[in-house]
Amino acid sequence: MAKENIFDIKRYNRNILVPEINKEGQRQLFKARVLVCGAGGLASTVIANLASLGIRYIGIIDDDKVELSNLNRQYIHTISYLDKPKVLSAKNWIENYNKDVEIQTFQTRLDDNNYNDVVKNYDIVVDCFDSFESKFLLNDISLKMQKPLIHAGVTEFSGQVMTIIPNKSACLRCIFPDANLDACVAKGVVSPAVSLIASVQSMEILKLIINKGSLLTNKILSIDGLNARFKVLNVKKNSACECNF
Ligand SMILES: [Zn+2]
Repeated sequence: MAKENIFDIKRYNRNILVPEINKEGQRQLFKARVLVCGAGGLASTVIANLASLGIRYIGIIDDDKVELSNLNRQYIHTISYLDKPKVLSAKNWIENYNKDVEIQTFQTRLDDNNYNDVVKNYDIVVDCFDSFESKFLLNDISLKMQKPLIHAGVTEFSGQVMTIIPNKSACLRCIFPDANLDACVAKGVVSPAVSLIASVQSMEILKLIINKGSLLTNKILSIDGLNARFKVLNVKKNSACECNF
């Protein structure tokens, strides 16, 4: 028996009442497999949204441990998980919230040797990493593996979101061909900015799965939380980009 027949569909009633979702969309959500890359601030909101939507297959990759300074924004982690792996803390949060979800954790850094095993079983990849270097690596891996990537970044009050569809839309390297990946100065960041940006990411994941609405492809949504400004910047795929496969 398919698992979707045995759990309590009432839980998802308010999803199903949305005409764009309906029972068919909910079935798509149940089937979708989403890999969350990083288990920090962006991931806290993305994971909470995925589990709420009823996405049953969630993968999480992260090699960090929970630190006290994470807790100004990474709300799925609690004091009892200090110094413990973030992937275990995230898994524990999901298990307490929604037992329908099957969670696969990878307590490691994504790299050129392990990416195939980590990414291959997922339909959508979500960039919740926190460094330029890991974001560009994930960009390249997602394109190589032909997986849609929902990119986001956030610092202080501001951030941006962009959806990347392999072979169809602009990637990070199309837009920032000369990015300095060593730039790694720790900056502050506030929780409302992180959860706002990650909610836009989550909305992109939802639309991609139910195939409704319009995505942030060839567009960057730039959010300036301090001044309550939301801007959509049009960007173009570069036919000479090194990420064309
Ligand atoms: Zn590109």
